[in-house]
Amino acid sequence: MHELSIVMSIVDIASEQVREHDADYVERIELEIGSLAGIEPQALEFAWEAAVPDTVLEKAVRNIHYLPARARCAACSQEFELQQLFDPCPHCGEYFSDLLQGKELRIKTMTLIGKEEPTPSN
Ligand SMILES: [Zn+2]
Repeated sequence: MHELSIVMSIVDIASEQVREHDADYVERIELEIGSLAGIEPQALEFAWEAAVPDTVLEKAVRNIHYLPARARCAACSQEFELQQLFDPCPHCGEYFSDLLQGKELRIKTMTLIGKEEPTPSN
């Protein structure tokens, strides 16, 4: 289950931030996950419960935003929502498109107890 290793790297990043800012623990964490990032929400939930006890994220309220996948058609330039990678354009049927959003897997913000430190989002 790769969700577990994802949660463990989130724990690592959070521990790092807490140490860097001399905080105690994370109060709130906001994640952005694209619908094509390969993350199963229930598996993520399960992995979270398994991985956070005794870490700085133990008491953190988590807020997960699931982002729908969007693409721009290479032929007609219309933007559309993708259910799966390589879905054809609904306007013209073209298969080539540029993915605009959907593979995100990032920490949007983290609130450390005592102070607020937004992490750079890229
Ligand atoms: Zn098109």
